[in-house]
Formats: sequence, C-alpha cells, structure tokens
Amino acid sequence: MPHRKGDAHPLHPPTEVLTRGFDPRLSVGSARPAVFRSSTYVFSSPEAAERAFAVALGKARPAEGENIELIYSRLNHPNAEILENQVVPLEPGAHQAAVFNSGMAAIMTAFMSFLRPGDALVYTLPAYGGTIHLIHDFLEPFRIHCVGVLAGRGAALDEAIRAAQNLRVVFIETPANPVMVMTDIARAARAAAEHPDRPLVMVDNTFLGPAFQHPLLLGADLVLYSATKFLSGFSDLLAGVALAKEPALIEKLRAHRVMFGNILQPDECWMLDGRLPTVSLRMNRQSKNAQRIAERLVEHANVIKMHYPALFDDAEQIKIRLAQCSYPGAMFSMELARGREGAFTFLRNLKVAHNAVSLGGVETLACHPKTTTHSGMSEEELALSGITDSLVRISVGIEDWRDLLADFEQALDAI
Ligand SMILES: *Cc1c(COP(=O)(O)O)cnc(C)c1O
Repeated sequence: MPHRKGDAHPLHPPTEVLTRGFDPRLSVGSARPAVFRSSTYVFSSPEAAERAFAVALGKARPAEGENIELIYSRLNHPNAEILENQVVPLEPGAHQAAVFNSGMAAIMTAFMSFLRPGDALVYTLPAYGGTIHLIHDFLEPFRIHCVGVLAGRGAALDEAIRAAQNLRVVFIETPANPVMVMTDIARAARAAAEHPDRPLVMVDNTFLGPAFQHPLLLGADLVLYSATKFLSGFSDLLAGVALAKEPALIEKLRAHRVMFGNILQPDECWMLDGRLPTVSLRMNRQSKNAQRIAERLVEHANVIKMHYPALFDDAEQIKIRLAQCSYPGAMFSMELARGREGAFTFLRNLKVAHNAVSLGGVETLACHPKTTTHSGMSEEELALSGITDSLVRISVGIEDWRDLLADFEQALDAI
C-alpha cells in the first residue's frame, strides 16, 4: 500500500490520485496543475545541463533527492511527470508509468522495445483492429514470428507459449474486442514464467481497467492502455499509457519514446490528468448501466446472442471472470436477427446512442465491427473469432439507463 512520509495510514487510490505528483508551490500556488507548453527548458548552469544530459542518456543515476533539470519536451516535461505520477495508484501493483500520444503508440513502443527480428510473439485473437494490423503489416514483415491463439483457449495458449522459440512477448487483450471472450491472465503468466526465455506478459487492459481488472496483480509484467477510452472518458483526446511493477521496463520504454518522439503532449497530459479522479466513478456508473441494459436486451426476440461478462454461460469463462474482474464493465456485443441487414437497421434507428467507433466515453456508442473496426482482419480470422455480419458492439455511457434501454428496444423492434 502507498505511504506518505510521516503518515501512519496508507492512502487509498482515490485519495492518492488527488494528492500526489503535484506541488502547487512549483506553479505559483495554483491548486490544480498548470500547463507547461514550452518545448525547451532553461538550465540554471552549464553544469546542470551536462548533468541532465548524463542522466537522460543513462550515463549517470540521479542521487536520492537530487533535482535533475528538464531539457526538452520530447524527452520529458512537467505535465507528463505529473500525469505519470498520478496514474500509478490507479493501477494496483504498478510502480511506474509512461504516457504516449495514443494507445497504438504505447503498444508499438512496447513491441519495439522488446522484440527483434527472429524473436517470437504470442498473442490472443481477436484483438483491437489496429493491433492486428501492427502485427500483420509491420511485425511480421520485420521477421518477428507472430503466433495468434484464440482468446479464452487456456490450453492452446499454454501450448503456444511452450512451443515458441526466442519468445519475448506474450500479448493478451482481455476481454477480447469485440466478442468479449476472456483470457486467463494468471495462467498465461505461469506458462510464461516456465518458459526458458522468460517472455514478458503484456495485457491490453483498455476494456476493464483500471477500475475492474488488475493484470499486474495476476502476474503480468506490463499493462497497456488506450487512454483515449475510459481513462479520458469524453471522446475528445488521444492518449496511451504503459504501467509496470518493474521500473526498468518503463525506463526502457521511455528511452525508446525519446527516439520515436511519441510522448503525450502537455495539453493532452493536462486534460487526461484532470479526468483521472473520476475514472472509477464513471466506469462504475457505465458498468451498472450496461448490466441493467444487457440483462433486459438478452430477452428481446431479435437478440440472438448476447456477449457480456455478467451473462457468460460457458463455465470456464465464468471461472475466469470471477477470478480476474470485479465488475462486468460497460462493453457488450449482440448478434442480431437478419444478419448484416438487421445490424445496420438497428444502427440506423438509434436516436440516443451514436453510430461511431471508439468506446469508453460518457456518451453511448454503437458500431458494426466486421465492416469497421475489424474490417482489416481476414475472412478466416473473422470467422474464427466469431465476428459475424450480425454482430454489433455497444459502449455504454452515463446517460439514464432507462432512456438507453428504450432506444435500443425501439431500434431492435425496427429489425
Ligand atoms: C482504441 C484501442 C486501442 C488503440 O488506442 P488508440 O488510442 O486509438 O491508439 C488499443 N486497444 C484497444 C483495446 C482499444 O480499444
């Protein structure tokens, strides 16, 4: 548990996020952080500049309590420092964080920091469309051996991990976008720990984190987020976050971030920072809304199948859900009657929810994954993953759930 100096009681995350990482005395007493848009920083002396570069290049380590001066904003800036410091308590088990200018930037930097040509990556399918693109259209041509395993198939994942040579990364997205199938993180972490290469286990925790699923406590090494989604919560900025228990992993990502130039910009850091204290409030409300709605829509004649963690019927999936998530979350997908035509009619008739990709915002969004977010997947991958013509994905917001339910019901009736 986190401790403050001289304080007998450990602070809980909702308190920590509001009390750490920011000193008003460094911002003329401002009660909330200021935005530091400077691209470059003035050194107090040439010696201080030399010291700052030595530390930045990893040639020297800062002494305990030493003040290392800022250099240039592609390396680091105050708003990134504040955000990275404040996001850590929201992810149980994390000690360090690094922020990026999108979720894809965080995932790409994580892959490029730990994978070299000739190495292997094992990943779960389906996953976010952009991640699948990155694997097929960038990592594979780069001679990284990428092995996809269907989400939720624990034995197959164990076997793929066991069989892989030069295995550096096991990448898990759970629940899998958009079919909501869960993969057992603790089991995958055990299989990785038994592999002679000791691959890193990375979890894309965008769907249920940071409120409802804590991969670092289950043995994962790195947690990755599209902070564009629930962390930010208002569909008005792009950001990514990586968190780890082991500070050296984050240091490595930061060193690559300097080269790639993909640190999150000061304005976005400031905006995201202001959203952190309400992440848990928003996610709890969104999850309650989604559960109430999904439990009723599952009864509708035009809903052929409902994919939602609280409504799992597979015994293994229920076991994983109970072991690794506290609440079912705000995302559900439905297979509707009359295939693609039924799905499109449903989307066309929504009045409160919007037909848009993305998720995690306070407003409710609905989309047709097969023709949009996952249209880059092959027919074979789509069929294997269960991304059908009739599937629509819903991200539930914080509207009154009764209005959303009525909206979904009238759109389903229109089919
Ligand atoms: C959106 C998303 C991403 C990519 O994040 P961006 O911020 O759009 O780059 C990665 N993983 C998941 C699960 C996502 O939903």
